[in-house]
Amino acid sequence: MIRFRSILALVLAVITTFLVSCGGPTPTAQAPTYSTAQIEQIQRYSEDLEILRERLLSIPPLVQSSQWNDVKTLIHGPLGELRFKMLNLARLLDPKSQEEASAVSKEVFGHLVNIDEATQTEDSAKALRNYNEVLKDFDAFLDLIPDVTKPENLALL
Ligand code: ZN
Repeated sequence: MIRFRSILALVLAVITTFLVSCGGPTPTAQAPTYSTAQIEQIQRYSEDLEILRERLLSIPPLVQSSQWNDVKTLIHGPLGELRFKMLNLARLLDPKSQEEASAVSKEVFGHLVNIDEATQTEDSAKALRNYNEVLKDFDAFLDLIPDVTKPENLALL
């Protein structure tokens, strides 16, 4: 029992020291900071994703005019890199956003697979439904990315 108490006292002393050192006059310690290299990477991936988003927008007119091969080419070509870029970007985010971002990337990929399936059966309704979903999920992903071009947002990272 004595032994236990001394261990407990030691643990409490360690915890107290830890709390005191954390509660010091430097409240900036809580925000994870990004290196210049990471900020550049985030910016580069964000720009790439904005371009790919533009490509996504060309899906509905192609579906409406039954240009199924073009839809297929789009999904396997430029949009094929989408998941890779999203997952790479997700890895650069803080742990909480990272988890959400990887979940949303999986959603996006799932909808693209469905659009690809729709091109095989020429199912416009399925293609357009998944297009709406993919756009929604994609924008949810973009919302998770901090705008590193604004210094006031860097403080929130
Ligand atoms: Zn979804």
